[in-house]
Amino acid sequence: MSQRPEYALALHGGAGVRPGRDYAPVEAHLRGLIAAGEAMLKDGASALDTVEEMTRQLEVSGMYVAGRGASPNAAGYVELDASIMDGARRKGGGVAAVRDLVSPINAARTVLEASACVLLVGQGADEFCKQAGLARVEDPASWYRLPVGVQACEASQSELYHGTVGAVAMDRGGRLASATSTGGVFGKPAGRVGDTPLIGSGTWADDQVAVSCTGLGEMFILAAVAHDIAARMRYGGQTLATACDEALAQVKALGGDGGVIAINARGEIALPFNSGGMKRASVIAGQATQVAIT
Ligand code: ASP
Repeated sequence: MSQRPEYALALHGGAGVRPGRDYAPVEAHLRGLIAAGEAMLKDGASALDTVEEMTRQLEVSGMYVAGRGASPNAAGYVELDASIMDGARRKGGGVAAVRDLVSPINAARTVLEASACVLLVGQGADEFCKQAGLARVEDPASWYRLPVGVQACEASQSELYHGTVGAVAMDRGGRLASATSTGGVFGKPAGRVGDTPLIGSGTWADDQVAVSCTGLGEMFILAAVAHDIAARMRYGGQTLATACDEALAQVKALGGDGGVIAINARGEIALPFNSGGMKRASVIAGQATQVAIT
């Protein structure tokens, strides 16, 4: 068995790439971000801190369908979902249908660290975040913007257009963590929650694997994708790549599409998708950084 690398990291900016669009700014952003994440891990940051920070930066960039890049739901306001999981401690935290938080992933981490709950939703989550002093969006009208290259009119034409951001990491101590954050699908009804904030559907981490999903959330919930990958490895002895491919095949069979980023305790990474593309970047210590869209 080969020796595990010192650290490894993967990011995604969501499935749902549109043909013909110029994704050069997104590629440049992902490249800069993965370099920053690699520096954190090299310096000894935990996998958990690293995936939280990567996801926060993806959220506040406004370039993806998460955080600042989210668009309003059918009722005209933005509702956001996020979750984070620490594989070493088997602890998770999530928020769903929250409004006007600068960083939903910071809120998910706060639920993980400072509450006895795993998931807080709606008004109660908003109240928890206020009491925790998390930064709020002061002026929603000027804060939110659609992700790069997406016009509001196009978005409303395609109710299936969606996006998410996420990160998975293995740190120098061999600990695994994952984080996922989303604005959901364009035109979603108020109160709609997808897979992203659900531990086991959109996000999972244990001592063997960490997963962050993107795609049509309803199908990812019905296939319990993130935990299905972990279970295929733990109980079925599948490799990381096979487990990811077969879990995604379940999504396809249900009529959905999307992708996952996943990392195992050997520092191996899988980034499969069955959508048109998935904005993604990865690095394994000592190897070249990979950035790709299609
Ligand atoms: N999974 C997200 C959701 O359904 C959307 C996406 O990843 O594109 O909310």
